[in-house]
Amino acid sequence: MNELQYQIDLLRAMNQKLTEKEKMHAMALQATEGVFLYYSFEKDRVETIGDWTEYFSFRIHEMKDLSKIMDYIDEAYQITLFDALFPEKHNIDSGAAECKLKNKLCWVGVRTLVSYDQSGQPVEKIIYLKNITKVKTQSEELAYMAYYDSLTGLYNRNYFVRLLSEFVNRAAETNSIVSVMTMDIDEFRKVNDGMGIIIGDELVQQVGLFLKSICGDDIIACHLHSDVFCMAVYDPVGNKSIDGIYKEIQKRLRDPFHISSGQSIKITLSIGVAEYPEAAATTLELINCSEIVVYKCKKLGKNMLQYFQAPMLDDFLNSIELENKLKKAVENKDFFMCYQPQYYSGNKRLRGVEALIRWKDDSSQFISPNVFIPVAEKNGSIIPIGQWVIEESIKQYSIWRSQFGFPFIMSINISALQYKKDDFADSIVEVLNRYHVKPSEIELEITEGVLIDDFEEVSKKLKVLRDYGIRIALDDFGTGFSSLSYLKQLPIDSLKIDKSFIDTVLSDSATRVITESIVNMVRTLGFESIAEGVEEENQYNYLHSVGCDVIQGYLFGKPLLPVEMEDVLENSLS
Ligand code: C2E
Ligand code: MG
Ligand code: MG
Repeated sequence: MNELQYQIDLLRAMNQKLTEKEKMHAMALQATEGVFLYYSFEKDRVETIGDWTEYFSFRIHEMKDLSKIMDYIDEAYQITLFDALFPEKHNIDSGAAECKLKNKLCWVGVRTLVSYDQSGQPVEKIIYLKNITKVKTQSEELAYMAYYDSLTGLYNRNYFVRLLSEFVNRAAETNSIVSVMTMDIDEFRKVNDGMGIIIGDELVQQVGLFLKSICGDDIIACHLHSDVFCMAVYDPVGNKSIDGIYKEIQKRLRDPFHISSGQSIKITLSIGVAEYPEAAATTLELINCSEIVVYKCKKLGKNMLQYFQAPMLDDFLNSIELENKLKKAVENKDFFMCYQPQYYSGNKRLRGVEALIRWKDDSSQFISPNVFIPVAEKNGSIIPIGQWVIEESIKQYSIWRSQFGFPFIMSINISALQYKKDDFADSIVEVLNRYHVKPSEIELEITEGVLIDDFEEVSKKLKVLRDYGIRIALDDFGTGFSSLSYLKQLPIDSLKIDKSFIDTVLSDSATRVITESIVNMVRTLGFESIAEGVEEENQYNYLHSVGCDVIQGYLFGKPLLPVEMEDVLENSLS
């Protein structure tokens, strides 16, 4: 009885142990997230563990069923999978493969282990299948991100640089040329600011798509950043010549890009080309040089292709140095103002003064506003500089106005960027109020460039200022698009004829005809004409004789420091 009881207890314990083991196996199976196939060569017995139907719609009962797997596998992976499933065919004890199932939605990883007996015959084998789609797509995405730009589908900068250096190495061996073209969409900010970044992005995407269509074996392109693309051409001759590619680009740009939200956008490109080995010997230098040329194209008027030339690098480095110096000067307020007198041509009485900014850099060198104002306009520091000029000149005027007791006009140069600020009119009015200065004693000088951008908008803003009583002068007339026809639509008080006209007015009859028609037109419209840069008595006599109202120039007075200007004001009293 005891013996029997003992046997029963033993069986129970073994049973319990078995179910525990089964449970453990089931858990292990769950944790591996895979399915297994066990095969005994000796017994020719197949056993599957886990749900094979997750992958295949057939069951495996005998080993030959296994070959049905091949019908489910993408052809490109069939050979490697076959080798992985049957490693014993090569007399090795394991195989592994990753393959795509034909429905393309699923990737499986396969591992096989074979055990052999002492004579080298296979005894058992186990095949393990696992769904690795998630890992695979993640790594595909990662690989895509490593090579491509997600917005345009073009190569990204890193991968482009790698391919470009392969071009350069190849060119070094074969004595060939590699051209690098950096392209920047002109006025892209207007699209981004005016229409929104979603439209800006779509435009960049479409330009990228177009550039992709030009690419080929020896032509690659990438999206560098923002609205900037870079293309590289190995051995740019024949149908891969830069000239040919540029013609193709120009042809495409004749038509607008159609945005999905309905807008049509026409663009131009500024393109800089730098060539290996002439411009630079390394990949990054080549890209840099072509970027510098783009910067030059922008300065020369955009919509063009230019090649890199060595002096451009010096110009560029100088402008960078200037930009850095300017930033410091703005922080330290290293500026001061000079004032140049203006006289009525008839009675030679003082009409007013033009406020002109001066900058002496660290090495006590004067830098002309003609040089630093464009840089300040480019990097935005014209806003604080311009505000300082307004504050300083109006303060100075209020001091002189009370010191000398008579009104004159304080004329202040204003940049396009300042006008564009929404609070521009309010900020001027605030300063006038603070210094108790009458608006009619202040004149703002704008250049034609301000109008080219947005005639309607600027005219509206000028009208607000004029309604307030502030005077407006159109500066440098004759250097921009100078159409007399738009003058009547402009809310201005004075027109300043540029010095370049005055310089040749006596020697060139065509200039005389133009000058006289400007003066007449201005009189008809009821404005005042001011001649700039009058240096000679003869010029003054002529201008006076044709009816020019005001004279400004070295002949009557250079720009002066405030203390020097005080003498002029003192004399004007008498
Ligand atoms: P602008 O407004 O046309 O100023 C007239 C320029 O001609 C001044 O040069 C003046 O010194 C110069 N000038 C006047 N009469 C004669 C003359 O008889 N002969 C010669 N050779 N030159 C004469 P400046 O002061 O060098 O200023 C150059 C330009 O820089 C200005 O041209 C103006 O566009 C800009 N600028 C100057 N100050 C400011 C400022 O405070 N703000 C802004 N936004 N621009 C300024
Ligand atoms: Mg001026
Ligand atoms: Mg001028």
